[in-house]
Amino acid sequence: MSSSVSAFAYIIASICFIMALRGLSSPVTARRGNLFGIAGMAIAVVATLALPQVMSFGTIIVGVLIGGTIGTVIARRIEMTALPQLVAAFHSLVGLAAVFVAAAAFYAPETLGIGTADDIKTASLIEMSIGVAIGAITFTGSVIAFGKLQGILSGKPVVFGGQHLLNLVLGIVLLLLVVWFVTSESGFVFWLIVILSLAIGILIIVPIGGADMPVVVSMLNSYSGWAAAGIGFTLENPLLIITGALVGSSGAILSYIMCKGMNRSFFNVILGGFGGEAAGPGEDMGDKTVRQGAADDAAFIMSQAKSIIIVPGYGMAVAQAQHSLREMVDQLKTRGVEVRYAIHPVAGRMPGHMNVLLAEASVPYDEVLELDEINRDFTMTDVAFVIGANDITNPSAKTDKASPIYGMPVLNVEESGTVLFVKRSLASGYAGVDNSLFYRDNTMMLFGDAKKMCDDIIKALENI
Ligand code: NDP
Repeated sequence: MSSSVSAFAYIIASICFIMALRGLSSPVTARRGNLFGIAGMAIAVVATLALPQVMSFGTIIVGVLIGGTIGTVIARRIEMTALPQLVAAFHSLVGLAAVFVAAAAFYAPETLGIGTADDIKTASLIEMSIGVAIGAITFTGSVIAFGKLQGILSGKPVVFGGQHLLNLVLGIVLLLLVVWFVTSESGFVFWLIVILSLAIGILIIVPIGGADMPVVVSMLNSYSGWAAAGIGFTLENPLLIITGALVGSSGAILSYIMCKGMNRSFFNVILGGFGGEAAGPGEDMGDKTVRQGAADDAAFIMSQAKSIIIVPGYGMAVAQAQHSLREMVDQLKTRGVEVRYAIHPVAGRMPGHMNVLLAEASVPYDEVLELDEINRDFTMTDVAFVIGANDITNPSAKTDKASPIYGMPVLNVEESGTVLFVKRSLASGYAGVDNSLFYRDNTMMLFGDAKKMCDDIIKALENI
């Protein structure tokens, strides 16, 4: 393929990727966005394989077969609830790839046309060292995030005195090493950069508490994009530079939006100071009595209501209750009850988690509202039906400065007439914080699995 044809194919692929991002910004257009992404990637792969620099296909085919098989098996088996850790694991591989590509470029520069063994172009040395640093940070950072999300490592923040200062000093040392490497072209310094960056990746993620992991996943997404862009410079591949920059900047924008949504500072995240506070004792729960109800009670209360807001959370995903929930809502709607859904930006375990599940159950998009759009309406609502959610409703985020989730905006479910809380026990949610809502007078706890509870409520509604 001539260079002008491949350049044209790369432009088309880049446009497809931009259209993919645009499509993915709303559930209504997400499928179309995905198709654009697939088309762009297919064009990019074919155009790259047709480049004259590709001398043989043997190793490429073996790599595609191994990677493709692993990817297919994982995609078929993965539980929806485990997607965040899968994304973190994928990011780690992008980071590792960046390290390997930089090492290959350093030890065989002539194959990439960036110089000879002892005389590599200065610009390539700069790209290589920055790329390898971001790649190594992304690798270990993503591995730690994977461990925390998978429950292999504790979700609690690991904090110690002088942590910020240490991170800052190590960052400065890293910059000095990059300068040393560019001027000396030393293999020893190259590997020093790798080792220091691996350590920095661990150090910036360990202090981040479980409740702030969404921002971490999105930050790592951004890092992996910049690592890919770095590889693009090393390989002199414009498509990889564009794609990496798109992933890097969209991840950074998403992180910024999430930080704003959780009332956190962006720079604090980058420096890894997030969630550094010790877990607070939570609010004073008084004598801690709860009002408990059954499916019949819930069915009666909801059948008498004029308006209901459903608040789904992680437990709905665990129970796969979205289809039963929609059936229950359909029943209520036939009785003239107005039902809407309130989606918190970090409900579940990944951005957009609840939207995906509700879309899968064919819930109409116009009934699904974001926190900002619906939070004022709870005061005018008869019933808030909280299904498998916990942290995202916890008022300690508004009132308890010692709480690890203090400052995170929460859904004001307590302002509605009655709060029906579906969960299996009084256990805390992801952030490990007790929820004072369970003990309020206008709350009724409906203990049980979310799907089974919805099915039982449907049966009870049929008898009313
Ligand atoms: P939470 O983790 O706060 O609460 C979920 C609740 O669901 C639990 O308290 C659990 O209670 C209940 N539950 C679990 N299984 C079932 C079941 N089968 N049936 C009924 N209930 C069940 O989830 P939220 O969605 O409220 O909040 C999300 C949390 O996750 C936040 O802290 C957020 O920061 C964090 N997070 C979010 C990410 C994102 O991008 N969205 C990524 C990573 C973390 P019980 O055991 O009693 O049933």
